[in-house]
Amino acid sequence: MSITENITSILNEIANTQLICVTKTVEPEKMNEAIKAGATIIGENRVQEFEEKADKLLSCEKHMIGHLQTNKVKKAVEYFDVIQSVDSLKVAQEIDKRAEDAGKIQEVYLQVNIGNEPQKHGFKLDDIRQEIGEIESLKNIRVTGMMCIPPYVPPEEARLYFKQMKSLFDELKAETEGKFDNIELKDLSMGMSGDYKVAIEEGATMVRIGSAIFGERNY
Ligand SMILES: *Cc1c(COP(=O)(O)O)cnc(C)c1O
Repeated sequence: MSITENITSILNEIANTQLICVTKTVEPEKMNEAIKAGATIIGENRVQEFEEKADKLLSCEKHMIGHLQTNKVKKAVEYFDVIQSVDSLKVAQEIDKRAEDAGKIQEVYLQVNIGNEPQKHGFKLDDIRQEIGEIESLKNIRVTGMMCIPPYVPPEEARLYFKQMKSLFDELKAETEGKFDNIELKDLSMGMSGDYKVAIEEGATMVRIGSAIFGERNY
C-alpha cells in the first residue's frame, strides 16, 4: 500500500481520534505525500533531524515526541507547536525559560513513565502530583495533554497500561480543572502502529503512528 492509501485507511479507521503522523527517518517528500493525503500533524523525535527537513515541508502542525536534552530546548521552542515529551520538571523549567525569551506560550504535554521502567523517561506516578504543583508557577508553558509510551509488550498486555494512563489522566484533569491557570488537560496521546486500536478503545484522543504509514524503519 502507498503512503496515501495508508493515511486514508487509518484516518477512516480512527475516526475522531487525532493522528500524529510520526516522521522520524522519513524524508520530506514522503512527509509531504502524507500531508497531501490528509495528515495534519507530524511528530518528530529529534530537533536536529526536523531542522534539516523543515524548510521543505508543506504546512502542518508540528509536535516534538522524543526526549529533549536541555541544550535542544531553545530550538524545540522555536520549531514545535506542541512539545509532547516533557518528561521531567527540569525540562519543563527550561522550556518555560526559553519560551519567555522567545515571547511565546509553549504548549506542552506531560509524558508519564506509566510502566515505571527504570530506563525510560517520564514523570513517575509517585511524583507527578507534587511536580504538577511546581509546574503551576511556570507561566510561559501551557499544559494541554498527557502522553505515554507503555512497556514494549503485545497490544493486549499494553491495554492495562493504557487503562492506568486513562485513569491517571481523568484524575489529574479533575484535580487541576479550574484551579491551575496554565493547566487544562484535553488530549491523551497514546498508541503506536502496533497497538493504536487498543489505545483508542481505552480512551486515547490522539495516536502516534509511523511504520504503519511509511513502512518499517531499518534501525
Ligand atoms: C517512533 C515513535 C512512534 C511511532 O512508532 P511506530 O511503531 O512506528 O508507529 C510513536 N511515538 C514515539 C514517541 C515514537 O518515538
